[in-house]
Amino acid sequence: MCKEKRQYMKVAFLDRDGTICRDYPDQDWANVKHLEIIEQHLQIWQRLIEQGYQLIIVSNQYLIGEAIISRQQFETLHQELLQKLATMGIPILDTFVCPHHRDDICDCHKPGTGLVEQAQAKYDIDMSEALLIGDSINDYQLAERMNIRFLSVAPEVEHRI
Ligand SMILES: [Mg+2]
Ligand SMILES: [Zn+2]
Repeated sequence: MCKEKRQYMKVAFLDRDGTICRDYPDQDWANVKHLEIIEQHLQIWQRLIEQGYQLIIVSNQYLIGEAIISRQQFETLHQELLQKLATMGIPILDTFVCPHHRDDICDCHKPGTGLVEQAQAKYDIDMSEALLIGDSINDYQLAERMNIRFLSVAPEVEHRI
């Protein structure tokens, strides 16, 4: 039987805080009104789009589970960020978030592989072409577990690897 050809997509998984936008100490997040895009990194996202990558955000948001921010606060900040990026010519295909408390047992808190697996369940992703970009050791370890390429946007992470 001839199986229908599926269209596999090239995906760059992006961490959000400290990678796309500024990160803050946990308690400071309660007072964040707008996410501040890291302008020096915009050219990375633009180049990935030129190279045919779809961009998917994978983000640990234990601040929600630990009640430092509400789910609604998260959504408001995040939607505004997505809109800003879109007007800059950087559309984000989708976002996958771990909202759990760090004491919860879940498989999605990076470097757990749950967020990437959720994306794989929803989209036909060519994992041989996939890469992950982030600023923390969690991101690096997730890439390692998924056996995909990793790009660090934080020099100190490279040093720790
Ligand atoms: Mg980060
Ligand atoms: Zn989780």
